[in-house]
Amino acid sequence: MSGAGAPSAGAAADAARCAQAGESGDGLTVLHERGQRQVFCGLAGIVWLHRKIQDAFFLVVGSRTCAHLLQSAAGVMIFAEPRFATAILQDRDLAGMADCNDELDRVVSELLARRPDIGTLFLVGSCPSEVIKLDLDTAAERLTRQQQGRVRILAYSGSGIETTFTQGEDTCLTALVPQMPASDEPALLVVGTLPDIVEDQFRRLFDAIGFGAIGAPVHFLPARHAAELPPVGAGTKILAAQPFVGETVAALGKRGGSQIVAPYPFGVQGTRAWLGAAAAAFGIAQNKVDAACEASMARAERGLARYREQLAGKRISFLPDSQLEIPLGRFLARECGMELVELGVPYLDRRMMSAELELLPAPRRLSEGQDLEAQLDRLRADRPDLTVCGLGLANPLEAEGLTTKWSIELVFSPVHGFDQAPDLAELFARPLNRRARLAF
Ligand code: SF4
Repeated sequence: MSGAGAPSAGAAADAARCAQAGESGDGLTVLHERGQRQVFCGLAGIVWLHRKIQDAFFLVVGSRTCAHLLQSAAGVMIFAEPRFATAILQDRDLAGMADCNDELDRVVSELLARRPDIGTLFLVGSCPSEVIKLDLDTAAERLTRQQQGRVRILAYSGSGIETTFTQGEDTCLTALVPQMPASDEPALLVVGTLPDIVEDQFRRLFDAIGFGAIGAPVHFLPARHAAELPPVGAGTKILAAQPFVGETVAALGKRGGSQIVAPYPFGVQGTRAWLGAAAAAFGIAQNKVDAACEASMARAERGLARYREQLAGKRISFLPDSQLEIPLGRFLARECGMELVELGVPYLDRRMMSAELELLPAPRRLSEGQDLEAQLDRLRADRPDLTVCGLGLANPLEAEGLTTKWSIELVFSPVHGFDQAPDLAELFARPLNRRARLAF
């Protein structure tokens, strides 16, 4: 094993290919597919998590492929010490000829001696560490004892066998939940990584709505410093800001928290409904939410108008990638007038999506999972105006004359909230404008 600083797409093949369409209890018809998938693995989450949690370090225990993924997706920081790296499993490790735990202890000791600024160290599991059954949870406990509590060391999986693209954040936050202090005092807990600028906007809105006035503090998970973990207990009401944090919400529920059912804060309508659901959970009247949001909503509506002109009537398909497909499809259909052709999601978590599904205009097709070739056949037959997909598929589809949008950009960019609603619409208008210009 050696220390090193790191897209390869985590494409997992599944021999069993099958597809079936089924109508669920809520009347929604979903095409369930199993087959080859084309999606990043959960290591990708390190890209935005390391920017958000400023005292955390992410040590991937993986292969050179994992290192390349991180270096390509996160970029190489030349002037600053990076806060992620890969401990590369060598052939000797994989062949069982070396004791991986000894090697891991050595790499971690060297890292922590060189980087006293690290407050929380995440050991991130990968496909190779999973295949050789390296127990990173036990390693994290052992290393925490060795460090005598100076550094919090936790483990989670970003393996492509277990996680898709955004699930890496869910497994990371789930690992933090047992560390959170207990408190039964009433509090709102917003879950899911938000850029600092967006978190600050929401803090101002929650304050204007009156959370401070009723003595209900608003906390965010993850916080900007892992050492500042928010409390959780019977008084905690959980408001998910991202649709892919289902396991974290379940773990918080086991600590006594209760989930607020709400759509996600994308677009003007989604953000207003999200804030309104939070206020209702604390008994705050909706007219206070209206008053607090009025100026921001008017500004966002003005900004959205020009993009609505460009997007209205255009047909869009989402390939399954980030779990943002349903909330973004809802925003594009309801607020921008786009026509949904196919919405593909990696997995359909109805607990996290119930409010969104109620607002979603019927797409022609809602699919769960992926059978890549079958999905591409449908896409070629549909020929939507815009296809949202992963990096690996975008260029080949562009070569076939389809206009694409990289789904990863929707996760990296600040897109939540009123002030970002026009920027969110612009992300979809831009490739259409580029294609129109090329046509001349
Ligand atoms: S965790 Fe697996 S899918 Fe992800 S980069 Fe490493 S080997 Fe590839």
